[in-house]
Amino acid sequence: MAGSAILRRLAGEGCEVLTADRATLDLRRQEEVERWVAQQRPDLVFVAAATVGGILANATRPAEFLYDNLVIETNIIHAAYRTGVGKLVFLGSSCIYPRLAEQPMREDALLTGPLEPTNEWYAVAKIAGIKLCQAYRRQYGCDFIAAMPTNLYGIGDNFDLQGGHVAAALLAKIHRAKAEGLDSVEIWGTGTPKREFLFADDLADGLVHLAKHYSDEPHVNIGTGSEVSIRELADLVADVVGYPGRFQYDTSKPDGTPRKLLDVSRMTALGWTAPTSLRDGFAATYCWYLERLAGGADLRGQPARTA
Ligand code: GDP
Repeated sequence: MAGSAILRRLAGEGCEVLTADRATLDLRRQEEVERWVAQQRPDLVFVAAATVGGILANATRPAEFLYDNLVIETNIIHAAYRTGVGKLVFLGSSCIYPRLAEQPMREDALLTGPLEPTNEWYAVAKIAGIKLCQAYRRQYGCDFIAAMPTNLYGIGDNFDLQGGHVAAALLAKIHRAKAEGLDSVEIWGTGTPKREFLFADDLADGLVHLAKHYSDEPHVNIGTGSEVSIRELADLVADVVGYPGRFQYDTSKPDGTPRKLLDVSRMTALGWTAPTSLRDGFAATYCWYLERLAGGADLRGQPARTA
């Protein structure tokens, strides 16, 4: 999702875009990555590739989330250094911050307290990615920067109900309930946790802005600066989809961290704010979802890793 949004954004920049799909390049294989980067010699690299997933995937596949992400970022960052890549933008996640960090979470809250247990594996890998960028900048003078996006949603999301995040899951579940005339939809947890949601195309725009205007060691949060409860999100999605039914809360499922709102003042000071409202972003995502369904796509079976 993030990678394809970056491609859409770069289409307007007049640059040549180099990509390698999963069949061509396994980013977990160091030799393959070094060969690819040395052959293609990119000027700028966005590290959007990661093994990602929602609360259940994170909590139940800890080895994959830790190993894949550590090795993917290490391989790409080291290859970029060896090939003399001019700029690299690494994508982290807002789950790098302590579970009970003061809200909204400032960049300097990193490593000040214990992580949220349901996603600590992913968080540890992403923290290592930030530190790799800082270390390669300090030791080798590489212009490698790190951006921390909040929870993302949008075109190309993973709609798998077990593996995906809440935004895509609610869209898929609520659409199905409407299509099948069901009178209620199941929501995991209590519905009270709050999350901040950023449209993936806005993230891409923010990343290009950072690539052009930022060159320093501290990582930078990218979000909207506002949050909604899962209950409010469900209401909004029901409204976009046109679903009149009710919600049932399955409290045997985890809530995860109670709040995860980013302080976006550093990004704002750099001259960027997210342009798309939550309603417009969900309307655009639902349009795309309906088009893909009409085209016969299986939106449940998308794999977790995006490259
Ligand atoms: P998180 O931000 O890392 O916790 O990841 P998620 O996006 O998976 O979950 C966010 C919140 O939405 C958690 O409190 C979940 O329990 C809640 N949630 C409610 N329904 C769903 C669902 O169908 N799928 C997912 N993934 N989360 C859900």
